[in-house]
Amino acid sequence: MTGGARAPLPEVTPAHVQVVRGRLALVRPFVTAHGTETSKEVLLVRAVGADGAEGWGECAALATPGYTAEWVDGAEAVLRRFLVPAALAGRPAGVVGHPMASAALEAAVLHLRLAAAGTTLATWVGAVRDRVACGVAVGVASSVDVLVAEVAAFVDDGYQRVKLKVRPGWDVEPVRAVRSTWPELPLGVDANGSYRRSDLDRALAELDGLGLAEIEQPLAADDLVGLADAARRLATPVCLDESIASAADLETALAMGAGDHVNLKPGRVGGVAEALRIHDLALERGVPLWIGGMLDTGVAKAVTVALAALPGATLPGDLPASRRWFAEDLTDPWEIVADGTMAVRPPGRVRLPPTF
Ligand code: MG
Repeated sequence: MTGGARAPLPEVTPAHVQVVRGRLALVRPFVTAHGTETSKEVLLVRAVGADGAEGWGECAALATPGYTAEWVDGAEAVLRRFLVPAALAGRPAGVVGHPMASAALEAAVLHLRLAAAGTTLATWVGAVRDRVACGVAVGVASSVDVLVAEVAAFVDDGYQRVKLKVRPGWDVEPVRAVRSTWPELPLGVDANGSYRRSDLDRALAELDGLGLAEIEQPLAADDLVGLADAARRLATPVCLDESIASAADLETALAMGAGDHVNLKPGRVGGVAEALRIHDLALERGVPLWIGGMLDTGVAKAVTVALAALPGATLPGDLPASRRWFAEDLTDPWEIVADGTMAVRPPGRVRLPPTF
């Protein structure tokens, strides 16, 4: 399956577009190298067609500009002022950047286009499976014992891969503790770009000896020379997340040898269309790829799960069950079963998030 094999969809100009804000409490805080999230600031786009069909998109932007430059209030402003008016007028928005805002609107309108074509997202993109392999990301914990207990609960849930968030000062000791407790567990780490090249001789070299499935974004997003050095020197595959904002970025990174795996997040790359270009390139080049998440509600999960069913999504994604983050999701709950898989399905009815 390649991008060229997907049927063109009819263009649909929405009759009405609504931007919805709200907030969902997380069942527990999520701590990474770039900060602590205690709630999900929800930003949704609802597009309504002239025929009354409804499509939803979710913006991946977090509360602060710590993961990438985008953040939820900025994304909302760009949507309201530029992206939505252009969509209602049926013209290109001409907006540079702001991929997460763009992806939210793209997803809402894409659902109208899919409905007009009488198909679903999974079918249209070329899904090859109806259940997808799920991994889970585990944040920085208050102690190694707390971390091991948290991982134990996820292992019991059946997750096929565990990814530990690491940062300077929280790396070798906690990762070694998890590795020694579960010697066979597919285990990765994600540094969110928090190390420097000099750490290749220290923390990163020590992590390299722990039998990890991958080390995600060890160095800054734009340090492709450093990442190429890391990919050469580390036996563990280097996975790129923040470094890849487009298929062109992936082509550059591969030409430089700057990464071995790709974490593909549709929000980070501007939506499903660019995500498919990246997927197709990775598949063509034989680059292992998995689908990432951003504290997603069920609205975004419907998109990430459909992409995880693509033939090039060869590794378990960050696709946690609804209850990993939320007491009550905005859609029917997304569940994983004992074999660590989740069903591919549309979002179904969307509940409005609590406002603030
Ligand atoms: Mg990451």
